[in-house]
Amino acid sequence: MPALVQAQLRCAGVEYEQSIKQTQPQLTQRLLEVEQLIRQGMESGQWQRTQEGTLVIPVVFHNLYHLPSEKISEQQVQAQLKTLNDCFRMRNADTVNTRSVFKPYAADCEIEFRLAISDPRRRSTSGIVRYYTPISSWKMGDDMKSTSKMGADGWDSKSYLNIWVCRMEKFAGFTSVIGSDPKLDGIVLDLGAIGAGQKTLVHEVGHWLGLKHLWGDEYCGDDGVSDTPKQASYTPGCPSTPRITCGNNPTGDMYNNYMDFTNDACMTLFTEGQKRRMRTLLANGGLRGSLSNSPGLKLPLIAEMPLAEQDPTWLEPKLFPNPATSYVQIDLSYDRRWVGQSYRIIDLQGRVRMQGAITSVIHQFELTGLDKGYYLLEARRTDGVVYKAKFLKQ
Ligand SMILES: [Zn+2]
Repeated sequence: MPALVQAQLRCAGVEYEQSIKQTQPQLTQRLLEVEQLIRQGMESGQWQRTQEGTLVIPVVFHNLYHLPSEKISEQQVQAQLKTLNDCFRMRNADTVNTRSVFKPYAADCEIEFRLAISDPRRRSTSGIVRYYTPISSWKMGDDMKSTSKMGADGWDSKSYLNIWVCRMEKFAGFTSVIGSDPKLDGIVLDLGAIGAGQKTLVHEVGHWLGLKHLWGDEYCGDDGVSDTPKQASYTPGCPSTPRITCGNNPTGDMYNNYMDFTNDACMTLFTEGQKRRMRTLLANGGLRGSLSNSPGLKLPLIAEMPLAEQDPTWLEPKLFPNPATSYVQIDLSYDRRWVGQSYRIIDLQGRVRMQGAITSVIHQFELTGLDKGYYLLEARRTDGVVYKAKFLKQ
């Protein structure tokens, strides 16, 4: 794969931010204020006043699957969490690959991530919730974060790190922007970017905790961290020699940093400055300080786990019985976008004999008013999808 394509796939955070700014013009100002708050917190030593030692963040994975093979296993999630925690705790074996010139800056961030054991209503949970969706692949945006758009609503973002895992069209991952809509707060990961040793999530969690790309998303830009050298832009692949840009002699670009775009194997450190920035957000009164009061890692009050959602039996509409006598049913549970849409039942002469709205994913049509013979059921969605099926009334 050419390096540039891979770099584009790595993280879509910048494209995402641009897209939401187009619909929310006030966001630009809000983000400047957020940056100001973070910098004030860092300068005032806010992060040091927070509780000492390791901070633990409850995580929930919302797995949107269209095909059964897109269900992620608990093993896959646990392996990903181990990599995430190893990287944040500087325990990953590949820290030995960190270029020696960067090693003095490397930090154990003392932040860990654990699957939630209680949901927002203190019911027991495995921290992994799987949902069937009629959407087979997702565009960058926020639709996957809303049940009404065939995705899954997030859990209270004051208390949980929400991670949506679904089939993305182009990107490995992207993260919401701190200071934007809390209902859309969290990380979206492509199904291919989760598992043992994968570091897309490490990078995205860095963003979720307030880190920017090393180049500050502009030429020799500022990432708000003092111990990461300025660098011109992202680094593709994994360089074998120093890359000097923006006058960053002698260290050069810190391409081993998780907030660059290098290969997973090349990414091996967060710095002390990045640790300070992330922990400022997690401090009491910080932008993510409420996580320390989360119910997510407290024992559940209701021990019974909610039942898993049933998979649809078919991935298309099914009409039955056919031939029919007093009624015919249509099973549309593969796609609940059908509910509320219109239908007509037409006889062989082309006359509309019944019409109305589909009221549930398994809708029953009473046929007692119809003569014996063949009919056409036609259902139409406002998005242009049409379903037609012939049936016989006996
Ligand atoms: Zn990024």
